[in-house]
Amino acid sequence: MKVTKISVLFLSLFAILSCEKKATRGDADFSQFTQTFVEDLWKQYPGWATSVGYHKYDSILVIPDENTRQNEISFATRYLDSLKSFQFDSLSAIHKTEFLLIKNQLEGVSFYSKEFKSYEWDASGYNFGGTLFEITQNKETSKAQIINNLNRYLANVPKYYEVAKANLKNPTKEHTELAISQLAGTIDMLRNGEIAKLYKEEKADTTPLVNASKSIEGFIAHLTQIKSEMDAGKIKPKDFRIGKDLFAKKFDLEIASSYNAEQMYQNALNRKQSLTAEMHTIATRLWTKYLPNTPIEKDSLLLIKKVIDKVALQHCAREKFQSEIEREIPILTNFVNEKNLVTMDPTKPLVVRKEPEWMAGVAGASISSPGPYDKNGNTYYNVGSLAKYTPEAAESYLREYNNFTLQILNIHEAIPGHYVQLIHANKSPSLIQTLMQNGAFVEGWALYAERFMMEEGWDKNTSINPKEMSDEMWLMYYKFHLRGVCNTILDYSIHSLNMSKENALNLMMNEAFQEKSEAEGKWKRATLTQVQLCSYFTGFYEIYNFRKEVKEKMGDKFNLKEFNDKLLSFGAPPMKYIKEMFGK
Ligand code: ZN
Ligand code: ZN
Repeated sequence: MKVTKISVLFLSLFAILSCEKKATRGDADFSQFTQTFVEDLWKQYPGWATSVGYHKYDSILVIPDENTRQNEISFATRYLDSLKSFQFDSLSAIHKTEFLLIKNQLEGVSFYSKEFKSYEWDASGYNFGGTLFEITQNKETSKAQIINNLNRYLANVPKYYEVAKANLKNPTKEHTELAISQLAGTIDMLRNGEIAKLYKEEKADTTPLVNASKSIEGFIAHLTQIKSEMDAGKIKPKDFRIGKDLFAKKFDLEIASSYNAEQMYQNALNRKQSLTAEMHTIATRLWTKYLPNTPIEKDSLLLIKKVIDKVALQHCAREKFQSEIEREIPILTNFVNEKNLVTMDPTKPLVVRKEPEWMAGVAGASISSPGPYDKNGNTYYNVGSLAKYTPEAAESYLREYNNFTLQILNIHEAIPGHYVQLIHANKSPSLIQTLMQNGAFVEGWALYAERFMMEEGWDKNTSINPKEMSDEMWLMYYKFHLRGVCNTILDYSIHSLNMSKENALNLMMNEAFQEKSEAEGKWKRATLTQVQLCSYFTGFYEIYNFRKEVKEKMGDKFNLKEFNDKLLSFGAPPMKYIKEMFGK
């Protein structure tokens, strides 16, 4: 059945592309085309340009009105038209990927503008704090020029919020609350933070900062009024749930999978069931080791939970959290090299650092890669500090990232997860690929990396896990993986099936063994985003199943390193495009 599905997709895509009449242009023209396209893209989306380190349009704050939306649609239509002049079949693999990524991007424009319409309900979309910060990061110009850019940018703020107020026709409560708290941060940046400091240092006139702050305050007051009317029952807020129909369409555009949202929801339910069965088997084996002299628990979910709670007590000391991560990175690298799992690049070391102050400030781990206009910059592994945690919160966090899950976290974020994928993606000089990465491929690769590390014997790695800890390692790996699977179930259930908060928390805490704080945080994230939480499992599912097919086809000739290197050589487009190009 899977094979049929793929061939249908294969046919339909090529049918669409080959029925065009004037498709005569090839590779040579395509490079020129992408250059013009990107330059135009930045003119169309100055804020996006600034955010990736392209500073030519830093002084422009676009007014989010109907005129701008019409403009955007004509931009998309124009470029979708130009794409038709290329002979897709004659393009090189890199150009094919770029072609499809651009097409995907442009096809989303009318959906967001005409159907999704978040400008009518998501108040948090009206915040340019991140862009302001990026404007100050311009290393190619003087501070005086940066201030000049900021002044011109900020001059548009009153008009911007006038339009924002008119746009917001049916705000949700959740995004309104988020906007109120985030916009306070933007005001702080103008009054006391980065921007205020810059003006003070340069002895610049701060009137533009004062005026912009006043406009933002006016918008916050407007939102606070809306919120109090919602609380008083005078206004009925829009449900944050986007509903089955919009969710399905957004899923198709953003995840760009061979499967639709409902199919992936079903796949995730099945996966959850088989994972729970595996975990039950392992936990039963571990019972007497961790709960000696205790009669075995009859409820299978409770049995798993009790064993997990005991295993999780093995964690590093609070002050050793970062040094433990630093210790593990070279061990992971050696393992990947010795087992020949994927090509590593010793010339681009990963720098582990304490999470900088301006980042979220919540403990956690993330990868920061240099932007497409700063290829030689460092890649950082940011480790959140536990310094501000109460002893209880720190203990809970350390149990969550215990000796075993911390290894999976390092695999996921760093080696051979996100960091290794990034190194490979950066080898291809394609700006389009860097700009339009598919989130499902990126997260899917990280989950797939966790999986192949375990299959290749990471659980018995003597430098970290004594051999007899294999069961513990697998149990915690499954718990981590189950979180990704449940992300899909939650996202779909909440937005398409009207799942309640109570049921969502029950799913996460009782059926996926998560800590309360983690489950609460995930609920909040699911109310503010849509579809993104599906990227983890969908990407994994497609990559893992595709590898199975290739393995079966190649038999003895299958080589994991060759497969992985090749998979990463396309950049990070949706898996459905990689499947078409892989064998060619
Ligand atoms: Zn402890
Ligand atoms: Zn990730």
